[in-house]
Amino acid sequence: MEINNIMVAGSGVLGSQIAFQSAVHGFGVHVYDINEVAIEAAKERFDVLKERYKADLGLTDEVLNEAYNRIVFFTSIEEAVGEVQLVIEAVPELLDIKQKFYEELSENASDEVIFASNSSTLIPSQIKQFVKKPERYVHLHFANEIWKFNIAEIMKHEGTEEFVFDRTIEFAKEIGMVPIPIYKEQPGYVLNSLLVPFLNSAQYMVVNGVADPHTIDKTWMISTGAPMGPFAILDIVGINTPYNLSKAAAAAGDKEAEKIAAFLKENFIDKNKLGVQSGAGFYTYPNPAYKEADFLK
Ligand code: NAD
Repeated sequence: MEINNIMVAGSGVLGSQIAFQSAVHGFGVHVYDINEVAIEAAKERFDVLKERYKADLGLTDEVLNEAYNRIVFFTSIEEAVGEVQLVIEAVPELLDIKQKFYEELSENASDEVIFASNSSTLIPSQIKQFVKKPERYVHLHFANEIWKFNIAEIMKHEGTEEFVFDRTIEFAKEIGMVPIPIYKEQPGYVLNSLLVPFLNSAQYMVVNGVADPHTIDKTWMISTGAPMGPFAILDIVGINTPYNLSKAAAAAGDKEAEKIAAFLKENFIDKNKLGVQSGAGFYTYPNPAYKEADFLK
C-alpha cells in the first residue's frame, strides 16, 4: 500500500515533531488541531524545529523550507483526513479526549486508513473499541526529539491485521526511524518497561537513605560502562515527569512513591531545579559532575 499523505492529529510537543520528521522525508502532512490558537502555536514549534534540524542534522534552509511547504493545517477532522492513508494521533494523554477524537475520526475516514496512536501510557486495547476498524489500529510510539532519538516502538493488539503492523513498521523506516516491533501489548512498550523500574529503584534507594544520587550513578557507570547513571537520566527527562508519576502512584496507595514525591517536591520542584532544562537538578549544568574525569574515582 502506497502512503503519500498522512494526518498528524495534535500538534503539540510530539505531534509537531512527527509531522516535521515525516515532511522532511517527503510525505505530505495534514496537521490537525482543535483551533487557530493551537495551529499558531504549532507554526511556532515548526520554526524552532527548523533551527534544531539545521543545528543537529546540518540540513539546509532549502530542504527545511521544502519540508515545511509539505505541511497543510486543518481545524476540521473531516477535511484533514481526506486523501490520507495513515493517521498518527498525538492528542493529550486523556482517554476521554482520545475517545472523542477517534469517534469523530471514524465517522470521516475511509476504510483503507491505518490508525496509529503515539500514546505513551495507554495500550491499544484501551482505545481500539473507539476506532471504526480496530483491525487497522496499532500504536506507533516515538521518543521526544525524534530526529535525534530515532526509535519508533510499534505495538499491535490481538486483532491488528498483520499487514497493518508490517506497513506501520515500514513507514517508521521511511521516516528515518529504527523500528522496534512489539508483538504483544505491554504497558510502557520496551523502553519504559526497562527504564521506569530502573529509575524508581534508584529513587527508592535515595529516599530510604541507602546511598546518595552521585554514588548510585557512579556504581552504575563503573559496573556497566554506561555513560550516565539514573540521576543523570532523570535530569535529562526533567524532574516534573518522575514527580508526576510518583504523585499518581502515591494517590493509588503506593507508600514508597509518596516518599519519592515529597522528596522531589521539597528538594527540586519547589526550588525550580527541574533538571537540564533549568540548569540544575541532581547535577548542575552545563558541566555536570558525572562528565568530569575524576567522577569515577
Ligand atoms: P501536548 O500537550 O504537547 O500536545 C497535545 C496537542 O493536542 C496540543 O496541540 C493540543 O492543542 C491538541 N489537542 C488538545 N485536545 C485535542 C483534541 N480534542 N483533538 C485533537 N488535538 C487536541 O502533548 P504531547 O506531549 O505532544 O503528547 C501527545 C501524545 O504523545 C500523548 O499521547 C503522549 O503520551 C504522547 N507522547 C509524548 C511524549 C513527550 O515526550 N511529550 C513522548 C512520546 C509520546
